[in-house]
Amino acid sequence: MKETRKGMLLVISGPSGTGKGTLVERLLQRDPSFCFSVSATTRERRKNEIDGVHYHFISEEEYDKLEKEDAFLERATVHAHRYGTLKSEVYGRMDRGQNVLLDIDPQGARTVMEKEPNCVSIFILPPSYAELKVRLHTRNTEKPEEIERRLKNARGEIEQMNRYRYLIVNDDLELACDQLFAIVRAEKQNSVRYFPEIGE
Ligand code: 5GP
Repeated sequence: MKETRKGMLLVISGPSGTGKGTLVERLLQRDPSFCFSVSATTRERRKNEIDGVHYHFISEEEYDKLEKEDAFLERATVHAHRYGTLKSEVYGRMDRGQNVLLDIDPQGARTVMEKEPNCVSIFILPPSYAELKVRLHTRNTEKPEEIERRLKNARGEIEQMNRYRYLIVNDDLELACDQLFAIVRAEKQNSVRYFPEIGE
């Protein structure tokens, strides 16, 4: 039978240093049906980041303007910087049947879960708080005060993990990837996104 399929909205959250970025990259490399929703942020660009690829790096004024124009599906202040998912990164693609991946914090994820109850939400947990500390210090992308802020916020983020449909503990990257791919594989068959064309 013929049917049309709407794209999946996949929401992934987890504290900084859980290896969430690597899992997201692996999924995007492996599965071309997914595209990444590039968020807007007022945070400073890191050396290894590309504007328009990792984020749309914008000024406070540009952010205010987008907010006024109702351009955001969700927005949040995370670790003292502003971030937001642009509707333009999400809805057109989903309507065309493409799957869209959001890497956003639990405040934003909560908004998306309310607005889009059929979204698939996954929380990535680090093996332990001690391990999170080690990972944040060794990846060397943030200044010491930024690392402290992220560690402090991690506890509050982890407390929200039960809002998510799935949980992955990333203490073994290969296993965590397998679990992520398995969730995606099953969710691709979820009937909520299929619309049959029965005909005469
Ligand atoms: P980072 O500054 O390390 O790239 O991201 C910090 C946090 O902000 C991460 O938890 C990331 O998931 C979250 N984040 C990135 N983009 C967005 C967004 O558009 N909305 C929300 N709510 N959080 C975001």
